[in-house]
Amino acid sequence: MTDQSIRESIAALDGMLFVDGAFRAGQGARLPVQNPATGEIIGHIAAATAAEVEAAVQAARRAFRPWAAELPKARATLLHRLGDLIAADADAMARIMTAEQGKPVNEARGEILKLAEACHFYAEEATRVLGEIIPNDQPGFQSLVTREPVGVVGAITPWNYPAELVGWKLCASLAAGCTIVIKPAEITPFTALAIAAKCAAAGIPAGVVNVLTGKGSQVGQALVEHPQVDKIAFTGSSAVGLHIQQSCPQVKRLSLELGGNCPLIVTASADVAAAVKGAARRSFRNCGQICIAINRIYVHRSVYGAFLAGLGKAAEGLRVANGLTDPAADLGAMASAEPLAKTRAHLADALERGARLIAGGSAPEGAEYANGHFFRPTVVADCTHDMLVMREETFGPLVGVAPYDDLAEATLLANDTPYGLASYVYARDLTEIATLSAGLDYGNVAINNVDAGIMNAPYGGRKQSGVGYEHGREGLLEYFNFKHVRLHHGVGA
Ligand code: NAD
Repeated sequence: MTDQSIRESIAALDGMLFVDGAFRAGQGARLPVQNPATGEIIGHIAAATAAEVEAAVQAARRAFRPWAAELPKARATLLHRLGDLIAADADAMARIMTAEQGKPVNEARGEILKLAEACHFYAEEATRVLGEIIPNDQPGFQSLVTREPVGVVGAITPWNYPAELVGWKLCASLAAGCTIVIKPAEITPFTALAIAAKCAAAGIPAGVVNVLTGKGSQVGQALVEHPQVDKIAFTGSSAVGLHIQQSCPQVKRLSLELGGNCPLIVTASADVAAAVKGAARRSFRNCGQICIAINRIYVHRSVYGAFLAGLGKAAEGLRVANGLTDPAADLGAMASAEPLAKTRAHLADALERGARLIAGGSAPEGAEYANGHFFRPTVVADCTHDMLVMREETFGPLVGVAPYDDLAEATLLANDTPYGLASYVYARDLTEIATLSAGLDYGNVAINNVDAGIMNAPYGGRKQSGVGYEHGREGLLEYFNFKHVRLHHGVGA
């Protein structure tokens, strides 16, 4: 059972939309939200109606010019305040997230604190938005390049990181001087609504931040098609990202952070124990429901046996539990039946095609798991590229492993995918490291670590993994238009 305090927090957000600075009861149909660890219905969202979408976009439109005209320092002060309020309430917000998403409370708290960090980072960046003076080809002229906010942002987000993926778009929008209408995933709406409550408490002006709940195909699509929404900032699957790009009826700024199918290469020179530790973390954290999860691993044949033995043991040692009652569990429930079914399908396909099961392979047993979407961390070996686990994003606690003989072959296999989000390497030999960091066709390459993203470096994918960046200065630039002012002053002519 979800405990009383979480029930009360969620009840206050049940069926609510956040429009023009206030919560209001949505007028549309109610959709249930489940606790994925127990199957219990913890609340409902209101599917925003066309009139409510219009009200949110118009509120964001009205708020845009005054917000853009605020001094950067004033926007920064509000962002710092927002970060402080979120950090101060991290525990309660984390429990809301766990109740709807399944990840253990400690992990959820870490995510909320990273959201607070994003507020502070972008608060600082807001005051450091610089222009340029460009040399001209004639005397008496000066070219100034300034940055102006793009306008109203429609932010559409997935369920795997319900706070951070809202937060990066929210914080960058506010820092740049944009206003925003957020449409969170259907199954994790309450975290986004809880963030909206913090925006109100921080004193962010009415209309600057709005949250609409409902189905992507209706509410998300309405934002994509709305002529008054100047930019769509989307994180989600490649299929929906492509659909958004193709169905957008006006020319509009788009940033699309999409799916991955991320490889790890473990070379002959690697510290195998460190590689095992990294692989276990990045394959199974958040049940593998991470766009930068390690999906497939290529290991030099000389260390293949040792690596597999280590990873099998590490996977079997991870604790799977209800993340609300066991906040320190390694894995909680998966977020819904859908990624669990895909994980099972990828596993069955791999075993049918000759892969060897090294660890996991089934749901944990016991009454406490009976009604939730649980699965044990699973490792399959001797995989080939005719298996789904090596070709497609699994988005579950399953990783495929294969041996390789030379580095060129490993690089080819790692790049043999339509995706290009993140890749990982464990190696100690400098030539191997340099060869792989240049040869891997990915937006992020993490070497001897598995934390590909940090707040002040650009984070984005290539190929079908998307366009645009989040994090860092580059992430903020996605929310600006450049303006070139060519001025003839005549001095020196
Ligand atoms: P999804 O694409 O199904 O949904 C994402 C969001 O899009 C949801 O809010 C959904 O309601 C909305 N949506 C659905 N159809 C829409 C439409 N026609 N128009 C507008 N919006 C629509 O993705 P998901 O299952 O929620 O999330 C998992 C996916 O997200 C994985 O592929 C994962 O790799 C990807 N992801 C990418 C990153 C990244 O930074 N690149 C980060 C996290 C997750």
